[in-house]
Amino acid sequence: MKVLVAVKRVVDYNVKVRIKSDGTGVDVANVKMAMNPFDEIAVEAAVRLKEAGVASEVIAVSCGTAQSQETLRTALAIGADRAILIDSAGELQPLAVAKLLKGVVDQEQPQLVILGKQAIDDDANQTGQMLAALTEMPQATFASNITVADGKAIVAREVDGGMEVLSLTLPAVVTTDLRLNEPRYVTLPNLMKAKKKPLTSTTPEALGVDVQPRLITLKVAEPPKRTAGMRVPDVSALVEKLKTDAKVL
Ligand code: AMP
Repeated sequence: MKVLVAVKRVVDYNVKVRIKSDGTGVDVANVKMAMNPFDEIAVEAAVRLKEAGVASEVIAVSCGTAQSQETLRTALAIGADRAILIDSAGELQPLAVAKLLKGVVDQEQPQLVILGKQAIDDDANQTGQMLAALTEMPQATFASNITVADGKAIVAREVDGGMEVLSLTLPAVVTTDLRLNEPRYVTLPNLMKAKKKPLTSTTPEALGVDVQPRLITLKVAEPPKRTAGMRVPDVSALVEKLKTDAKVL
């Protein structure tokens, strides 16, 4: 069983992002980049399926500039077998990424496609769902457990009222939630070994996909600054402040 995993290069989650002065987006120049955390969980899930003898091959795919090769190498170091870069310089919105991934799905015919539930830069939470629609595959989003057997994926997902367990007929699309697993630490020897694993590249044109953005970002702004707090001497002063200043009592 082939498993395809989508990995996105994003600003590292430890970085405090800064908005560009003209308000058109986030400044990513000279900022540390890393694999989207939910995608690391997706790669780990796929590699564990391979280690369990359920998957035969894990293929990592990323859409973006040549710098995304670094992200793909990380996926290979975690344990993916080979990687595909879809080389594209412009902005890629979720619909474009879903169409590109569909192009790879058509070529590779994986039984399972695992994506992160959302990219921490655009927070769109759309690509997996769109890919499932385009490929007409069943989907399970926000997976906190995946088991695969007898042509089915059994996926547990946390919902408001508790835990939902879905049975999907393969091929299927699954998106990962934080609780699915804890990705392994990428060791230097594995990073070195990953350099020898195959990484091929293709383009949106070769896949016949128009990646033109459909949405325009009008403005990106910082959240309002929090005003400083104050100390009150006792409870009655606090109650007074809540009544007169905050007007919540
Ligand atoms: P989003 O819908 O943008 O929140 O992204 C959800 C998931 O889709 C991510 O966690 C990735 O698994 C995948 N994805 C989004 N953009 C890309 C990209 N440029 N390259 C590869 N995978 C992506």
